[in-house]
Amino acid sequence: MSKTCIVCGQAAGSGEHVFPAALGGRRVNSGIYCPKHDNSYSGLVNEIAGQLDFLNAYLGVIPDHSKKSKTASAEHTLTGETVSISAKEIRFTKPWIISRTPVGEGEALQLSFPDIQSAKQFIKKMEASEHKWTYLSKPVARRYITGSVKHKRAFGGACGLGSIAYLTQTLFAQEFPEVARSGVLSNFLGYTQAIAKVAMLGGCEKQSEEREELIEARLTLTSALEPFGGAAPIWWDFSLSEEEHVNKFEFGHRVTVGIDGSDGQIYGRVALFSALTFSMHLGTAPHGSATREVTVDIDPLAKHPPNDINKREVFSAPGRIQVPEHATEGLANAVANGTQQRAFAHLMERLDEHQLSMLARDMNKALAPCSNLSLLEARALIEKALDEQLQQIWRMVRGVLEGLKERMAEGNMAVINPMLDSLIAYDVQSTSGLSQQAEVMLALAKAALAAQMEEDCAAGVLNEERIAELMGKGPGLHVVGQMVLAPLLQVFGESPHPDEQ
Ligand SMILES: [Zn+2]
Repeated sequence: MSKTCIVCGQAAGSGEHVFPAALGGRRVNSGIYCPKHDNSYSGLVNEIAGQLDFLNAYLGVIPDHSKKSKTASAEHTLTGETVSISAKEIRFTKPWIISRTPVGEGEALQLSFPDIQSAKQFIKKMEASEHKWTYLSKPVARRYITGSVKHKRAFGGACGLGSIAYLTQTLFAQEFPEVARSGVLSNFLGYTQAIAKVAMLGGCEKQSEEREELIEARLTLTSALEPFGGAAPIWWDFSLSEEEHVNKFEFGHRVTVGIDGSDGQIYGRVALFSALTFSMHLGTAPHGSATREVTVDIDPLAKHPPNDINKREVFSAPGRIQVPEHATEGLANAVANGTQQRAFAHLMERLDEHQLSMLARDMNKALAPCSNLSLLEARALIEKALDEQLQQIWRMVRGVLEGLKERMAEGNMAVINPMLDSLIAYDVQSTSGLSQQAEVMLALAKAALAAQMEEDCAAGVLNEERIAELMGKGPGLHVVGQMVLAPLLQVFGESPHPDEQ
């Protein structure tokens, strides 16, 4: 096989990832780009990795060459502090001051640290410094309950599309090596090279004052788009129905490349997380090219080959694309009729479900011995496991209260909603992040779940599925609702679950 760079024809051999490592790709091919052109795409790869970091972190993707799963940064809405998000938790990244009050010559500070390690470091630093200081109270370890976090990262844009075009062209070159080197991709390569240069120079977002180099790169991009009528040869494509692209893997990415020999259309399709879908037109193959399509499903959650991909080949072109008259038409329509929001919302729902099943799996492992323990020991074990999941229990408390608020609004009783809000209020000044009332609600919910789990454990029915139900589905919301709403609803003469009266 010809091991030459598909961009310049020089010797290839840079060992690039066929699918970006940052997105969970594990396969390396060393015959597609020369080192220079492999490098030239690094701006695009960084861009897509950045754009998807929140989703990857939430899903728990472990990048290739890394032991730790992804984290993404976001802003904690209440404090404005930076938090790091991973599949397991949301945590502050640095110490922060909860409160400071002048006391005599100095001041009293209440500090919060993301972990014990960072508290110890701080104490060491203080001890080595000139400052005179003393503890106000013994440090306590508390789990912090985070409210909403803001993650400002738009997905897509010219660079987002460019990086998807790049990863598709790479797979095409692997599966159709001769065609990729026959010159028919030259316009498409011109486009990906030009957008890669813009990305490399930090031009994915418009800068207020742009360097000469970047202005030039933008001009080059404009002329690289001329053969495509001025618009990029890739677009969001929501025309595929859900059933048509069932991925082999739950959160798998799919890249499809193919040639339709009838007219030579070279096409590509990408579905990220089986949710965000794109199509592109790579060029026209030489007359007489065989019709063939290759589809690769990539599991971003697989830790290593061989079960990280699933490849299929057909000698037809079911995935051939319809080039839209105006490239942004598909997206504009999708935004207008809510398709894109629905695709995102549906993906987030699937991610939540995935997180819940991971949580249930971990808890099930921790709680497995409970049926062989004495009642007291089982209780301690269950409490400990629930203490690890306060954020999730808090979510259920909020879910229950929000549900009640809706019902109150429907029944023209929205006047009590401010009172309900106060029951689940946050408090930036507290060590847990919650107001005292909210802490009581959380404690009640935890106690209710503990009692139910003890009962289930004694009855021998506390398995993974049951834990998932209790920690985030109807049965758990019911248990939590009974406990936290019962005293409230007595006042209003209602039952927490009217359908069960
Ligand atoms: Zn090259």
